[in-house]
Amino acid sequence: MSNLSYANGGNGAWQTFLAQVDRVAPYLSEDLADYVDTLKRPKRALIVDVPIIMDDGSIQHFEGYRVQHNLSRGPGKGGIRYHPDVELNEVMALAAWMTIKTAVLNLPFGGAKGGVRVDPRKLSARELERLTRRFTSEIAHIIGPQKDIPAPDVGTNPNVMGWMMDTYSSGQGYTVTGVVTGKPVHLGGSLGRVKATGRGVYITGCQVAEKLSLNIENAKVSIQGFGNVGSEAANLFYLSNAKIVCIQDHTGTIFNASGIELNALHAYIEQYQGVAGFEGAERIDNEAFWDVETDIIIPAALEGQITVARAHRLKAKMVLEGANGPTYPEADDILNERGIMIVPDVICNAGGVTVSYFEWVQDMASYFWSEAEINDRLDKLMVQAVEDVWTCANSNGCTLRTAAYILACERILKARKERGIFPG
Ligand code: NAD
Repeated sequence: MSNLSYANGGNGAWQTFLAQVDRVAPYLSEDLADYVDTLKRPKRALIVDVPIIMDDGSIQHFEGYRVQHNLSRGPGKGGIRYHPDVELNEVMALAAWMTIKTAVLNLPFGGAKGGVRVDPRKLSARELERLTRRFTSEIAHIIGPQKDIPAPDVGTNPNVMGWMMDTYSSGQGYTVTGVVTGKPVHLGGSLGRVKATGRGVYITGCQVAEKLSLNIENAKVSIQGFGNVGSEAANLFYLSNAKIVCIQDHTGTIFNASGIELNALHAYIEQYQGVAGFEGAERIDNEAFWDVETDIIIPAALEGQITVARAHRLKAKMVLEGANGPTYPEADDILNERGIMIVPDVICNAGGVTVSYFEWVQDMASYFWSEAEINDRLDKLMVQAVEDVWTCANSNGCTLRTAAYILACERILKARKERGIFPG
């Protein structure tokens, strides 16, 4: 039996994950295939009510989640999302992708994810702090540096992590820096963490581009999402003299065939909180983003963006999945048939969790490394992971996504098998 009563059918992110697991199962050895159902259900899912007193004195309730998908290889690891569309199906999938991601990078963690269904832009700073502290206290009994370690995701940031760390520490009676990663540096955060995911997108992108003989210099790059991940990936491609031709965020889509000047765009966003209205590019329809002639396209916003219809239209040579789960399985097939190379999320955006691991190690040792050392370690781990995935894909004649899942599932299910099923 592989279906869960609360996650049957539908076309949500969890169903995308289940389809991805079904695709890898035939490649697994028989002794491990017996354990595959382990991946098709989260180990633990907590739903919490988060009531807060708003600035006007009224009480509002928000729904929050923490899902621990798999803990066979170590404590749970994964971000906290604040977004109006957060729901259990999505959090389960995001937690599951963390299980795969930590295993591909061979980090000693399982996979987890959490979130609150809220539009953080509509809360004041005080309301956001109250929401974060109450949510943290509601999930405090299942998180901890040896249990499950949250981090930032869409709509959360280092400040939110600082409040989470402080709230958890108050409950314990001492400072527990290792309970979350992505904290401000002066609170036990790691240098290089904020930029790590975007940096990983760039590193994996360059490495695969080289294998395809695609020159990054003058390559055209389009990016959906200009937040933590998208903007740093854009910066690094820009510094390598790629042309950033199209950018979309929640405010709109901008296009400039000769390349968007990023320094001016950053200054504009600082003032106007979005790309819409930027004078150094023309505004185009949001849907036209998927028709732009480009070499590299980077979905770096939300999941479920590359549908079958868009996969037929894409005019790119390579997709770098900065976001988690941006491509539907059926769209994956179309891109593969069309010869468009996908660098899958579970490796492409793993830079953040890798530096989160470094942050956790530094917190445990209370000994901190230089940014150069962190970037150097990150580059080495990611390059090695891409090489492993590339080799596995070639030897199995499969896509990079399936290869990443083969490597990850072998590690996770081997751990599950060797630990045994309790009680034996
Ligand atoms: P963020 O909140 O910093 O930025 C999100 C960006 O997406 C913003 O520019 C926003 O305007 C844009 N956006 C939101 N809704 C949109 C819409 N409907 N259409 C177009 N653009 C939209 O988030 P982030 O941390 O950059 O995360 C982006 C993606 O990367 C998510 O899928 C997240 O799970 C994934 N990710 C993030 C990290 C990390 O370290 N932050 C690590 C791994 C994966």
